[in-house]
Amino acid sequence: MEVFDLIIIGGGPTGLFGAFYAGLRGLKTKVIDVLTDLGGQLTALYPEKYVYDVAGHPKILAKDLAKNLATQSQLFKPAFALGEKVEFMEQIQEGGESIWKITTDKNTSHYSKTVLLALGAGACMPKRLDLAYPEVWEDDSLFYAVKSKEKFRNKNVLIVGGGDSAVDWANEFSILANKVTLIHRRDQFRAVQSSVEEMKHNKVDVKTFYELKELIGEGQLKKAVIFDNRTGNEETLDVDAMVISIGFVINLDFLRAWGLSMDKNCITVNEKMETNLPGVYAAGDIAAHTAKLKLIATGAAEAATAVNFAVVHINPTAKVYPGHSSNLNLTI
Ligand SMILES: Cc1cc2nc3c(=O)[nH]c(=O)nc-3n(C[C@H](O)[C@H](O)[C@H](O)COP(=O)(O)OP(=O)(O)OC[C@H]3O[C@@H](n4cnc5c(N)ncnc54)[C@H](O)[C@@H]3O)c2cc1C
Repeated sequence: MEVFDLIIIGGGPTGLFGAFYAGLRGLKTKVIDVLTDLGGQLTALYPEKYVYDVAGHPKILAKDLAKNLATQSQLFKPAFALGEKVEFMEQIQEGGESIWKITTDKNTSHYSKTVLLALGAGACMPKRLDLAYPEVWEDDSLFYAVKSKEKFRNKNVLIVGGGDSAVDWANEFSILANKVTLIHRRDQFRAVQSSVEEMKHNKVDVKTFYELKELIGEGQLKKAVIFDNRTGNEETLDVDAMVISIGFVINLDFLRAWGLSMDKNCITVNEKMETNLPGVYAAGDIAAHTAKLKLIATGAAEAATAVNFAVVHINPTAKVYPGHSSNLNLTI
């Protein structure tokens, strides 16, 4: 049985920075993620969007930031178990020591002295349409995430949703698509007001109180029938590409079964990023505390805090404060 010092569940920005930091502190580390690509939400949900609020990067594409984080995470050669969904975690006794046994859907078990939960919003599952359509349309003419903006160039694009993603994509595509229509079932948007205002001035046909009724096409999506949910009036739109951005399915109830204290859908932590379970830490979007901000920057800081306290949990004589990395003379 191979026992790690730290297993990080989640290879998003928080988990990746945590993996780098754990290496810096000399911990034998493994990262587990259900996805096969590293980067969490940056890779799965908005790879082609620019991020402006990460220290040291005035402007960087999310996919490039994810790539840099993945490179940095591998500096101290942690192990990776990708494409494995963690399903259960329990404390077991091994050689007179308590360790954590982590079981995944691949029927494999991983063992560690400490665990960092960097699960984000769970397994990043976008909410799916409840309309029937051929599976081959997905990632071809019907998209739950935009991985390449080029697929929308000169197309008639329909966007469904009223949150940040939907409105941001409407604004971005208004420049490169032939026509952009956004439908939203209400007239209140969850997106930030400035983006909604921008959309109203851009070349976007915004239809509030509209919902999808039917999708028409064979090999590809060709038309969408939409209806006004106040009057029932129907319209048929020519559509070559559609983005569905109606939220995410969040079901983190399984974390309660692991014995974790939760605050709604997040794991309660203290200022050391400790959960209520010994040697188990949480950081990033999944962690709940009174000063919580769900940002890449704060997730990285929380990961560093968690790792430094995990070091002391493993070795009570170690220092929490790591010193400055600039003193390390690393040969990178
Ligand atoms: C459209 C959009 C734009 C954004 N723009 C910005 C921005 O400009 N600036 C900013 O700071 N933030 C932005 N954010 C928020 C930012 O992306 C998140 O705060 C950040 O991704 C959180 O990182 P994380 O590593 O904690 O979680 P995530 O990125 O969600 O990563 C969690 C990882 O855990 C994995 N996982 C979950 N459950 C399991 C399991 N059971 N087993 C194995 N693996 C599992 C997931 O597959 C995922 O890879 C944006 C978010 C969205 C949706």
